[in-house]
Amino acid sequence: MFCGSCGHKTESIECGLKRRCTSSSCAARFYPRVNPACIMLVRHPTDLRKCLLGRSKGWPPGMWSCLAGFLEVSESLEDAIVREVSEEAGISVDIERGVDILGSQPWPIGRNQSCDLMIGRDSGGVGVWAATAQIAVNVDEMEDIRWFDLSEVLEMLATPMGTVGKKNLPSQVAISHHLVRRWVDRLTALGH
Ligand SMILES: [Zn+2]
Repeated sequence: MFCGSCGHKTESIECGLKRRCTSSSCAARFYPRVNPACIMLVRHPTDLRKCLLGRSKGWPPGMWSCLAGFLEVSESLEDAIVREVSEEAGISVDIERGVDILGSQPWPIGRNQSCDLMIGRDSGGVGVWAATAQIAVNVDEMEDIRWFDLSEVLEMLATPMGTVGKKNLPSQVAISHHLVRRWVDRLTALGH
């Protein structure tokens, strides 16, 4: 890779966190790009005990997770959520019912040696609300998407990854796990 300022070769420094131009008169520094991505727990429009989970192609058997996707250029997080849920599941998101950030998760070994930053979306009741329940899975992007009932989700949270013949969710290192866990905790606190 060459310097964007002077054209000399660059070198990797600080264990790959930066690159530096090898020209001593330039010494420009370059940082890996960060790709923002949104991840959201989508709630059923009328049934409090249901949330939307999907499976990407090539995932380990039994693994389901919240829908997620990368932001496009000049797109807000809110717009990205609406677009991704619509593209992947054919579902409209009711953004008026509230969107906040639960937290974020960096993924330092993302595409093209860059860093992905997953931003988890949450609302007062945890998750964004679907305006419609009918699912139309985009089979180019996803293997399957469907509504899961609270009892199923509880079983998935308790199932270790890789358990043969059982469905499961990502482990605690993933923000997806915490989006789902918080949805479950709120419902349980409400007596569901
Ligand atoms: Zn340079």
